[in-house]
Amino acid sequence: MGYDSSNIFAKIVRGEIPCDKVYEDDHVLAFRDINPQTPTHVLVIPKGEYQSYVDFSQQASDLEILAFTRAVGRIASDLGLDEPGYRIIANHGRDARQEVPHFHLHICGGEDMGRMIK
Ligand code: 5GP
Repeated sequence: MGYDSSNIFAKIVRGEIPCDKVYEDDHVLAFRDINPQTPTHVLVIPKGEYQSYVDFSQQASDLEILAFTRAVGRIASDLGLDEPGYRIIANHGRDARQEVPHFHLHICGGEDMGRMIK
């Protein structure tokens, strides 16, 4: 199945739906999750049209991948999460309950999350 450009994050990238933005550059957008699971819960997305981690890692340009991977750590630092730490999560497909078919990483922090993945 191909990328569906009517998904909610595509609309956010196009500015059709507002978001609580925490970071933006030419390739990356980060904004607060509308239904936070931890005190700090931010979603980081590439602006390009990739449905999943695999699509992103296989199809994105070196520049997009570099910009994205560097941005994630910087955003977490800027959110003040380096200490005592944070969790980065990517849900892929049905069993992982990926809800939005535009690749995104969750940055979760601000509380002790225990050993289990949320
Ligand atoms: P997934 O399960 O696909 O990994 O996570 C999708 C996330 O997007 C969920 O945590 C959900 O709360 C969040 N989300 C869904 N719709 C919106 C929206 O319109 N705005 C924002 N900021 N987050 C959303």
